Amino acid sequence: MCGVVRFEIDVPAVWAWHDHSLASRHAQGCAYATYVGCWKSRVHILKGKTSISRFEYGETRTVRSFCARCGTPLFYERPHAPKMVNIPRAVFAARTGREPRYHVGLSEAPDWAWRGDRSRASRA
Ligand SMILES: [Zn+2]
Repeated sequence: MCGVVRFEIDVPAVWAWHDHSLASRHAQGCAYATYVGCWKSRVHILKGKTSISRFEYGETRTVRSFCARCGTPLFYERPHAPKMVNIPRAVFAARTGREPRYHVGLSEAPDWAWRGDRSRASRA
């Protein structure tokens, strides 16, 4: 958001998914996060590498990186896919070559997240 960190990926990305897990909801501050997955070797930091902060969540050994200046989430790494990195789809200005095709963690979705079902719209 602030422009201190700039990166690009080689397209197309490998996968894209909607993450409804509690951990991603808290880390991103939204009902669910949409990620684009790439090979780490195909992510190129153009500027601001020293402004990238990393947080390793010990329980799951996942690593989330964000801009140290403005807090924008940047990278989400999971131990079962060590050569891959997931990047919030919303931070890209251009197409990534991959559309979200699946949902993860739907069982952890909050009851306040509206999915277009009008009968649930009044829960707050
Ligand atoms: Zn920033």
